[in-house]
Amino acid sequence: MKLDVNVLRYLSKDDFRVLTAVEMGMRNHEIVPAELIDRIASLRHGGTYKVLKNLLKHKLLHHDSSKYDGFRLTYLGYDFLAIKTMVNRGVFSSVGRQIGVGKESDIFEVANEDGTVMAMKLHRLGRTSFRAVKSKRDYLKHRSSFNWLYLSRLAALKEFAFMKALQEHGFPVPNAVDCNRHCVIMSLVQGYPLVQVKQLQSTDIVFEKIIGIIVRLAEHGLIHCDFNEFNIMIDDDEKITIIDFPQMVSVSHRNAEMYFDRDVECIIKFFSKRFNLSFEADADDSDSDADSDAVKPRFSSIKKASGFLDKELSASGFSRKEQDDIEKFNEGGLEKISVSDDEEIEEEEGHSSSTINASDIQNFDSLCSLTKADDQPKACGMSGEVEEDQQ
Ligand code: ADP
Ligand code: MG
Repeated sequence: MKLDVNVLRYLSKDDFRVLTAVEMGMRNHEIVPAELIDRIASLRHGGTYKVLKNLLKHKLLHHDSSKYDGFRLTYLGYDFLAIKTMVNRGVFSSVGRQIGVGKESDIFEVANEDGTVMAMKLHRLGRTSFRAVKSKRDYLKHRSSFNWLYLSRLAALKEFAFMKALQEHGFPVPNAVDCNRHCVIMSLVQGYPLVQVKQLQSTDIVFEKIIGIIVRLAEHGLIHCDFNEFNIMIDDDEKITIIDFPQMVSVSHRNAEMYFDRDVECIIKFFSKRFNLSFEADADDSDSDADSDAVKPRFSSIKKASGFLDKELSASGFSRKEQDDIEKFNEGGLEKISVSDDEEIEEEEGHSSSTINASDIQNFDSLCSLTKADDQPKACGMSGEVEEDQQ
């Protein structure tokens, strides 16, 4: 996905106010009626419709007039809200090149005023796994469904919380810097994904280190669930860093053993195929063979801590309910909905009241304090100049 951050420079305070109003309306409207946007935004000098047109031109909104005149955020619109908030917080001041395209994320380099370069991960849940099921729309209406905004925000929150907790427990993960909406800022990992590496100096040691991490995670009560050559970064000194945490589960999960074995198998398979590492010790698969356990650890013989998720994650503001929602999504248990810009999305249920009320509108004013007039984002291209509001 193209993220043309130059557009940010040309967006005014009113543009962001209206964009935020659409986001707020999306709490309980699939498509937010234009009148409601106007009411929430309550621009001092009017002109909501002109602003909507401008946002539409920049593809920050999607217009839908099939039932009534309404709008919803596009991924790009949501990106801009998150980026704007982070820039205002001083987390970073410029966005650079794209460094990764994950299954359900886009990763960019960002830099702060000191020139420190970090990684920005924008979660895009549903990009690959949601299917358009228009014919089932009536049926879906009465089912539990979640929109991509909610799910992508949860994925980011979970990733941030796990990264922080894992780092505090000495795991080799990026440094978690900040999180807003569907966006996580973390330190930039030097090196490359293991999938790109053709040769290692110390294959055995790297293998043992990686298997050791899977075991240590389980000892801490966790299973990565997507532990493979794409989510392991390695540098020239063969130092390992683990990334990508939104799908992690607790060792008390009903399928824990299967997930654990899958993570282990994945690594064994990759190392034997890519680096010709042989695993003879594992061949007889004898139960009491300690050597065999070192190569292929058994879930049942690991002393597992429990409560890691509950304690550490609830302390980080990630609730049990949110954890359950995202787990259901990861397991495909939720009705899935289209997120393509040309297709409609289902309304999120059970996460908000059914109408916008007065306190929402008051909250909106504090939200918009993030987008004060003199708060225009600074240049958002690595080489860009700081520009004033051009409107
Ligand atoms: P997804 O969940 O979509 O798979 P990942 O977190 O695995 O996303 O990131 C996708 C790719 O982006 C990685 O394979 C890696 O190349 C790059 N990447 C992600 N995070 C970082 C980081 N902190 N530093 C450097 N590169 C990163
Ligand atoms: Mg990944």
